[in-house]
Amino acid sequence: APYKIAGQTVLITGASAGIGEACAWRFAAEGCKLVLIARRQERLEALAAGLRQHYNVAVHTVAMDVRDLDAIARLPEELPEEFQEVSILVPNAGLALGVEAVHQLRMEDVRTMLDTNVLSVVAFTRAFTPAMVQRNAGHLIFMSSIAGVEAYAGGAGYCPSKHAAEAFAVAARHDFVGTNIRCTSIQPGAVKTEFSMVRYKGDEAKADAVYQGIHPLLAQDIADNVLYAATRPLHVQVASLLVLASHQS
Ligand code: NDP
Repeated sequence: APYKIAGQTVLITGASAGIGEACAWRFAAEGCKLVLIARRQERLEALAAGLRQHYNVAVHTVAMDVRDLDAIARLPEELPEEFQEVSILVPNAGLALGVEAVHQLRMEDVRTMLDTNVLSVVAFTRAFTPAMVQRNAGHLIFMSSIAGVEAYAGGAGYCPSKHAAEAFAVAARHDFVGTNIRCTSIQPGAVKTEFSMVRYKGDEAKADAVYQGIHPLLAQDIADNVLYAATRPLHVQVASLLVLASHQS
């Protein structure tokens, strides 16, 4: 029988757009309580209102920059009581910034990617796993990438950040062997979200060119895989899922 997640609390970062938002809809449809995090508060609130209305679930939003590691450390005890038992953690917020070759890398972009894609993921995991260890239950669903297992031209900043996040996910899985805490690394290929506009810093033509001729994945395709991992019977740990667009190399 699939694992029942109804009533469990799911914390999703990067929930104001793209994959995180799609995950919020999927988990709400299953009857989960949600903690939704991103910087754009209006977006989070609009999403929360929609989820409450469609699925009658409890939703709490936190507008914050996930690079604020101290704020992350304080978060578990600052959440309203009803949301404090986070069972499923989806530290999904992340970005690629720029496609420069190594000799032209912008160091501030590299730092932003490492702070967002790596340190924030480590900090959320560090903050929310002590309670999971205490209860001997929980699921960490990391949003890695094909860039976490392969590297490519123009990815000198992004790929190392995702490789680090991928290694962290694998290390976490080993740390929790013998417990009921499961770890999953989702490795999406090309997903049509705001991701590309962020990467190309608002250059719409270049951002769109990425998806030409490959019929990209949609955010819900990734959310489907996240939900699949979350709902397997307890003895099944979906360690990683590499999910590509069918026509992507
Ligand atoms: P989007 O750009 O559509 O969404 C990114 C989300 O992350 C937004 O909600 C954004 O919210 C949030 N975010 C970014 N920086 C911060 C920050 N400093 N503080 C708080 N929130 C932040 O991208 P996707 O949905 O596509 O990406 C989600 C994850 O999936 C990322 O980790 C990405 O690396 C990964 N991924 C994406 C792929 C793709 O092709 N799209 C492929 C493989 C992996 P806000 O701006 O409101 O803060």
